[in-house]
Amino acid sequence: MRLSQYFLPILKENPREAEIVSHRLMLRAGMIRQQAAGSFSWLPLGKRVLDKICNIIREEQNRAGALEILMPTIQSADLWIESGRYNDYGAEMLRIEDRHERAMLFGPTNEEMVTDIFRAYVKSYKDLPLNLYHIQWKFRDEVRPRFGVMRSREFLMKDAYSFDLDYEGARAAYNRMFVAYLRTFTRMGLQAIPMRADTGPIGGDLSHEFIILADTGESQVFCHSDFLALPIPDAATDFGDDDAIAGIVKRWTTPYAATDEMHDEAAWQDVPDAKRLSARGIEVGHIFHFGDKYSKPLGASVTGPDGKEHDVSMGSYGIGPSRLIAAIIEASHDENGIVWPESVAPFDVALINMKPGDADCDRVCAEIETVLTASGKDVLHDDTDQRAGAKFATADLIGLPWQVVVGPRGIAAGEVELKNRKSGARETIAIADIAKRFGGGA
Ligand code: ATP
Ligand code: MG
Repeated sequence: MRLSQYFLPILKENPREAEIVSHRLMLRAGMIRQQAAGSFSWLPLGKRVLDKICNIIREEQNRAGALEILMPTIQSADLWIESGRYNDYGAEMLRIEDRHERAMLFGPTNEEMVTDIFRAYVKSYKDLPLNLYHIQWKFRDEVRPRFGVMRSREFLMKDAYSFDLDYEGARAAYNRMFVAYLRTFTRMGLQAIPMRADTGPIGGDLSHEFIILADTGESQVFCHSDFLALPIPDAATDFGDDDAIAGIVKRWTTPYAATDEMHDEAAWQDVPDAKRLSARGIEVGHIFHFGDKYSKPLGASVTGPDGKEHDVSMGSYGIGPSRLIAAIIEASHDENGIVWPESVAPFDVALINMKPGDADCDRVCAEIETVLTASGKDVLHDDTDQRAGAKFATADLIGLPWQVVVGPRGIAAGEVELKNRKSGARETIAIADIAKRFGGGA
């Protein structure tokens, strides 16, 4: 992609409204534009990151056996009246009336709607387990939208819903999502710690919030430092093996970890002093078992092996892709800008032409762009006539993992400069070796 043909509205000044670094950098790097309180457009660079995040989430949901669907954003109030939540949900729900004066709402979540889909089709335990998810915009009229996409009113959510015959089955479904979440966040370069969360009137121990440690986090959290060294389940993990999956969950729920609301001072005192991590945290995911809370009022039941009707046992599993982008930036930036982990970077390589208009520079840049693109790399080719300093500043700000700098003197020697954004390390490499260096052919 040539920068001269791209839309990258970089801001030179620090936007005054941005209180935290991720919000500031997302605005400065031209990733998002605020449209109203807590509502943002995603500009090309931001949209690329959002897509990468969603693809990782999707791959891991699919691997764990969940099936992707897509439900509408606007819902009819009827199902919510049936479940009893229409009045309970409160002011966070945006209520709308259509031209026929029918009560509608902009979905803050989808338990009712997915349960309605389930009850229409599934009648026997033989069709279970079932886990349906979608990645869809939600609206919550937050009291205090702030920190950009970290806490917005319209935001993207991956929400999955599991259906099982009984508690045992629901627990296994919960465990699969738990393990899928460990893999998902790790693939984005994040260290997420599952922390016991409040189960409210449902009770039990099946609710965890996945928390990223960061100074700007909204919650106070407490955990054992052993979490930082626990092994992440690999891609060969067998999601069909309930015992193996339960073993991983056991391991990841044994050291102490709790948010403010669930903090247990006595258990905390048992953690050795040197192992205590008391920090701020960002919630990026939340998984929850709620049994028959929706299946009972909505009549979602199946015939069991005993020939009787059973209200299905359900759970829901959320991840916030838009909030995750802010969380990744909070965890990975420096004084010059964003430092993207390779897996979510909007482009892999910033190719910087130091002297556009110079025939050799233009030719070598075009060749490198072709070669890298052919080896599967996404290249942002800065062919603009900005000053060199401004080009370097932009490349650092938008945080692509690699910078390839092409100038007349290097070309004369058959070389270009390669800079790693994260380490800052620079090296000179032969133009002929570029493809090999990035995993392509000779
Ligand atoms: P919070 O306590 O931060 O308000 P929540 O408990 O309301 O979160 P859930 O209902 O569990 O969140 O939603 C699932 C996920 O959606 C959260 O873990 C978070 O990543 C994301 N999310 C929730 N609210 C917002 C928001 N206002 N802006 C951006 N992402 C959000
Ligand atoms: Mg909330």
